Amino acid sequence: MIFNVLRQVSRLLLPIPCTTCAQPLTDDPVPFFCRSCWALIRPLRGSACARCRRPLASPSALTHSPTHECHDCRTRQPYYAEVWAPYAYCSPLQDAIALFKYHGKVSLADALAALLIHTLPSHLEGDVLMPIPLHPNRLREREFNQSLLLADRVAAALKCPVAYRNLVRIVDTEPQTTLPRSARLHNLRRAFALHAPHEVAGKRILLIDDVFTTGTTSNECARLLCQAGAERVTLLALARSVEAGLVPEVWLPPSVPRSDTDLRA
Ligand SMILES: [Zn+2]
Ligand SMILES: [Zn+2]
Repeated sequence: MIFNVLRQVSRLLLPIPCTTCAQPLTDDPVPFFCRSCWALIRPLRGSACARCRRPLASPSALTHSPTHECHDCRTRQPYYAEVWAPYAYCSPLQDAIALFKYHGKVSLADALAALLIHTLPSHLEGDVLMPIPLHPNRLREREFNQSLLLADRVAAALKCPVAYRNLVRIVDTEPQTTLPRSARLHNLRRAFALHAPHEVAGKRILLIDDVFTTGTTSNECARLLCQAGAERVTLLALARSVEAGLVPEVWLPPSVPRSDTDLRA
């Protein structure tokens, strides 16, 4: 309450521009974003793979799949049973995730978690939520695990406990997105460990990450959990990277000033 009043006063004195459209912020409910930009963030719709929920250009892509799974899921059979990552990873959500993750703007945690919570279908029940862990070096650098901040809020909404000490990252791997698939897999083998494998046996685990890109990291965590006897692993993420042709045009404002890399600098 007091924080909100102070924010309003400071905006009158020193207007803050919206991160995406640069309009000065007034009474906007989400920090760093104007109401109109935030309203552009809408869940993806249309045909999707039954397992990874990757959006597909056309429903006919699943014609030859009795399980309604995409080609990648059929040929590689991930350890996770389902991915729930309802938004496309593009501006303004991409701007918000970059501010949250790389610039320590943790005041965005509530608004970002709310985006995910509002879309969760009732069948995604779980016994325990586990954030994808950061290596201690990365955690020291960043001072917080963005996935744990999201997990805490999702857990409160689902009334489900969070376990954040069991699954740990023991090897500080290179950022995965810059590497080819074979190198990513090689890197990730033995990157994670479970302190107490018996605690996940028979449990339905909801793994949580901020962005679902290749799925390699989450699949490696899911592999460990399944091999320790987890009944089912579902991955929850705020956003997923999607092919440009599948991103709704309304998501692309005419003069988006920055990319993820600019915000990281
Ligand atoms: Zn805006
Ligand atoms: Zn799939």
